[in-house]
Amino acid sequence: LSSVEVEKHQKIVELGDIKIGGDELVIMAGPCAVESREQLLEAAKYVKEYGGHILRGGAFKPRTSPYSFQGLGEEGLKLLAEAREETGLKVVTELMDSDDIELVNHYADIIQIGSRNMQNYGLLKKLGRLEKPILLKRGYSATIKEWILAAEYIIAHGNSQVILCERGIRTFETATRNTLDLNAIAWIKEMTDLPIIIDPSHGTGKRSLVAPLAKAGVTAGADGIIVEMHPYPEEALCDGEQSLRPEEFAQMIKELDRVAQAV
Ligand code: PEP
Ligand code: MN
Repeated sequence: LSSVEVEKHQKIVELGDIKIGGDELVIMAGPCAVESREQLLEAAKYVKEYGGHILRGGAFKPRTSPYSFQGLGEEGLKLLAEAREETGLKVVTELMDSDDIELVNHYADIIQIGSRNMQNYGLLKKLGRLEKPILLKRGYSATIKEWILAAEYIIAHGNSQVILCERGIRTFETATRNTLDLNAIAWIKEMTDLPIIIDPSHGTGKRSLVAPLAKAGVTAGADGIIVEMHPYPEEALCDGEQSLRPEEFAQMIKELDRVAQAV
């Protein structure tokens, strides 16, 4: 369905004025997790001010340890809705459990499916019945083919609004949290018609590497980026070490504008 042999027509996922897969680079940014009203509204203000389009923030967090902060749940979703109301930004947030589909669908403009759920086929089938864009992150051990077939689960069940997100894969390398697969960006653009964005935050795990890899991803053909940005990364409850400070985010956006014009 999404791999076209003869002629490829780039699919565009539209959200109001925002076209993911269109000519303009789409910027999604915000904290890893929604932590509080103050934190989220401050982050949202910066995302808007520096030219972002979509606010990210997890209300349901897939943490490796069950003892780590798990997210605010519905309260977090309500805060995202409030931030959308205040800024006009759209909202992307993760759905982990099919029990929460209606709830997350009610608040989100884009539903994120995280790396750990990429092959949760029951969940993917249910997403096929929604009329809502789905951001499908690559499983950290998934091949590109497995990833595309996961996207096909959603598409084949009726929802063609799928955006792929390369977020790094697990390799023998331990210097960085994951290995961002730039090949995948170029390959997906060449072989499929799906929009694809890049997540250099989880892809590297290190704040100083986020901007360079964002630029590399855009050069490789990504339609947009999703990055973690926190007003006070040192105080973050989740992924602070890979979260940009607001001024670093602003600087990266400027550099990305130049890269996008050059490619
Ligand atoms: C996230 O975006 O916050 C996240 C948990 O990402 P991933 O599913 O790629 O690990
Ligand atoms: Mn994170």
